[in-house]
Amino acid sequence: MRTILLLPFFSFLLIAVHAQNKYGLTPTNYEAYVNDVKSNPEKELVDLEKFIPGIVLDIRYATTNNFTGEQIYNLPKAYARKPVAEALKKAQAEFAKQGVGIKIFDAYRPYSATVKFYEVYRDTTYVASPYKGSRHNRGCAIDMTLIDLKTGKELKMPTEYDSFKEEAWPSAPVSDPVVRKNRDLIISIMHKHDFTVYASEWWHFDFNGWQKFEVMNIDFEELKNH
Ligand SMILES: [Zn+2]
Repeated sequence: MRTILLLPFFSFLLIAVHAQNKYGLTPTNYEAYVNDVKSNPEKELVDLEKFIPGIVLDIRYATTNNFTGEQIYNLPKAYARKPVAEALKKAQAEFAKQGVGIKIFDAYRPYSATVKFYEVYRDTTYVASPYKGSRHNRGCAIDMTLIDLKTGKELKMPTEYDSFKEEAWPSAPVSDPVVRKNRDLIISIMHKHDFTVYASEWWHFDFNGWQKFEVMNIDFEELKNH
């Protein structure tokens, strides 16, 4: 009798223990995300391809052309929280005045992918620690470059995307004046629109205010199908 009465209590405890992963985090799942958006519409993950007409996607983790050599995502999708998407849209309009457009390599990233990157490449200078999660997991970071709007070609930048070299640091010296101008352009316009470049990656921009948004572990299929 007593055991039966206690069962619901123990099952609650079990759920609480299971919700926290081995890195001590409890990322938001789809159901919790839906509730969050009801109480705070700013938390919505916006499909950037639909929200910003003309934006170009080259979602590398949906291909094998990335540092892991494996396809991590099932779908080539780019999502970001609503205020992030709005800021990026304004940045795109300003880039367009200079004849350039945005090409996105990665935006919102499910937490499970961050764990995978860490387990492949354990240097947290270049991959986020699964103990904290990435700002990509919060829907608040964009990996991107610029393209020439006439030709569609990428502008020359100091390194390839996801390069682990020091040349990728935004503070690294650049001898080619064209490359320096391109790097200055992407950073200055993104900074003007509430983003901050990451100290070791010229392509990574964090939305200022990312702290207000939780780490999520929702895959693209779940987002797409709702
Ligand atoms: Zn990034």
